[in-house]
Amino acid sequence: MSRGVLNCFQATKGFSVQRQSHPMSEFNKLTGVGPKRRKVLEAAGILTLRDLIYHLPRKYLDRTKLKRIDELRVGEDALFTGEVVRVEEAYNRLTVYVRDDSGMIPLVYFNGVQFLRKKFAEGRVLAIAGTPGFFREDLQLVHPETDPVQPGEVVKGYVLPRYPLTEEMAAAHVEHKFLQRIILEALENFTFSDPIPEELHEALNLVPEIDLLRELHAPESLENHAELRRQLKCRELFPFSLRLERRRFDRLKVGRTWKPDAALTAKLMAALPFELTGGQRQVIAELSASLEKPHQIQGLLQGDVGSGKTVVCLLGAASVLAGGGQVVLMAPTEILAVQHRQTLEPFLRSSGITFALLIGDTPREERETMLRNLQEGKLQFLIGTHAVFSPDVSYTRLGLVIIDEQHRFGVEQRAKLMQKGDFPDVLYMSATPIPRTLAHTVYGDLEMFLLKEKPKYRLPIKTRIVPPAKRADMLNFLLKEVREGNQVFWVVPQIGARETRNEDEGDAAVAFSSKEDVWNPNLLDKEEEDLLSVERLVKEVASFSTQWKVGYVHGRLSSTDKESALADFRAGRLQVLVATTVIEVGIDVPQANLIIIEHGDRFGLAQLHQLRGRTGRGAQQAWCFLPEPEKPWPPETAERLQRFCETEDGFAIAEMDFEFRGAGNLTGSNQSGFDGLRFTDLRSDFPLIQSVRELAREVLEGRKVVSSETLNRFALN
Ligand code: ADP
Ligand code: MG
Repeated sequence: MSRGVLNCFQATKGFSVQRQSHPMSEFNKLTGVGPKRRKVLEAAGILTLRDLIYHLPRKYLDRTKLKRIDELRVGEDALFTGEVVRVEEAYNRLTVYVRDDSGMIPLVYFNGVQFLRKKFAEGRVLAIAGTPGFFREDLQLVHPETDPVQPGEVVKGYVLPRYPLTEEMAAAHVEHKFLQRIILEALENFTFSDPIPEELHEALNLVPEIDLLRELHAPESLENHAELRRQLKCRELFPFSLRLERRRFDRLKVGRTWKPDAALTAKLMAALPFELTGGQRQVIAELSASLEKPHQIQGLLQGDVGSGKTVVCLLGAASVLAGGGQVVLMAPTEILAVQHRQTLEPFLRSSGITFALLIGDTPREERETMLRNLQEGKLQFLIGTHAVFSPDVSYTRLGLVIIDEQHRFGVEQRAKLMQKGDFPDVLYMSATPIPRTLAHTVYGDLEMFLLKEKPKYRLPIKTRIVPPAKRADMLNFLLKEVREGNQVFWVVPQIGARETRNEDEGDAAVAFSSKEDVWNPNLLDKEEEDLLSVERLVKEVASFSTQWKVGYVHGRLSSTDKESALADFRAGRLQVLVATTVIEVGIDVPQANLIIIEHGDRFGLAQLHQLRGRTGRGAQQAWCFLPEPEKPWPPETAERLQRFCETEDGFAIAEMDFEFRGAGNLTGSNQSGFDGLRFTDLRSDFPLIQSVRELAREVLEGRKVVSSETLNRFALN
């Protein structure tokens, strides 16, 4: 459950917002909230009065206009009046016929018949609200809300807020009307200081927070709703933008200069087994130019899978190494860290750069020597997983941190890293191109480096959807390819059917939250037994032919087992590698030019693109197959996957994914928001984001003069 917009303050270091504290006891002053209900609220994440007033309706029922009975439609909530003309009771069911000038409709009750019967005397006029449904061919209302209408009374329409409710809330009778009442009571009886100072209201076009909330909880109509949402967005965007701009600002004050070094660059270049692409040269030049600037840089290197980012960052790092700085390359998985070591070893060795690999499994003694060498400055280049930033690892002169596949690292890990050393420059490498709007907002404080060109020798990967009837053909094709020396990655969404089938969701979630498997929220809810698992697929593939050797790898294997499976695959001792998405990121086996992705609908397009990018690295034609399960995909899914088959441009795919799935999935954060943005849609609200950001910039740069209280509030002085 969300904690309200204030979250974006709490999450920020350096922004001490003076927030009124409302101790829990103040909940007691709300009518009807005793210890039991307080607990229920707490369990739903409502800990403070501020949380409570920001527990906003999920939707509203618009009952502003009274309907006539002949205007009632199935499935459409409505408010209308009618006179009771007949009451029938049979088999513990009460049917109340009501009518107006336009027609008649039955209201049906199954429970509490004894008690209800008294309410519905013939001739009585009722205000009735509910959603009509069909029974046989006729409309009826089951358990509608009713209120007696007094003679001469005019029934007024209203808007009914519907709040997000947990089961516990419902059980404790904390329901829509109750919530609305206590929230309005809180707004009436307590003072809440507006987090956005009044002097900024005009610039942002805001009404006072209390007025906004009152209207959100008890609107008279829904006409103003879009504007209310805009205000909510502005209220969260402003502090967010300040934070972003502030980070950019701060970096201008720290950091140091790294001069390019021709000699070391030449040495590294000499070890390259290929020509750099024009794109690579350009980004390397941009990177060195940035590193030469006197301030701390934070950059984002975006390049499609297979565009050759690894050598770019190595060559980019040359000036830091030459200037006596230490470089850390951090990968999100052990497999990938090991692979980076293998790739970089020849370069580092031939240019006399000291390097080491630090992962969770590094033996203790070796690790101790490593740490000592780091501290004494004898170790220049460290490759590893997040182990490189364990508390006991310290650097003498950390100059550059390179983070591979940055979307895998949480914000916290990134923050921890920033505290190491003396303001090192940081370069994030992202293999999932980030949609333009997202890049400007969430990563708006980063310098962008775009690597758009791929090495020339690559043929386009052919991607095909395989209908169930063609599965055998596909297997035969694969076998033929394998006989010719090709190798196959075969991806499934789960490790074993067992863990997900018999256990509840919680346990299943644990099974998949293993660090190296992408946790795919779509994975856990339904029909797991219909999903192919590593176990099942290994059996299927192995029994299809004895001519191929099948191995497997997934996130729950020990890193030694993972490594040995991969080594066997790389060395050609295995022809088929069945895997979970553990191979998604960065794995580079050039002779594997075939990939099958089972249950492709379970993955985001960017993720599919990553997986597909495991192939197409050698000189032969690469293929990616997406088998369709027995039960056909719904049309939208089929369309999405078809579009994926038709393009190989990672930047275009990122935009498509963004369109289909929103930002949460892309950034690896949950769907409820990104970095505390709860109301803003990074895509459709782009213009608003830009304008709020401009105001934040004006405030920071002093172009918009604000009082010292405001500066204090956002910790800007
Ligand atoms: P990614 O950008 O996906 O991280 P890598 O850095 O892993 O890509 O590079 C993919 C493969 O392409 C590696 O095998 C690498 O050695 C190779 N490679 C990189 N640059 C070039 C180039 N200019 N010409 C040919 N091969 C290259
Ligand atoms: Mg890579």
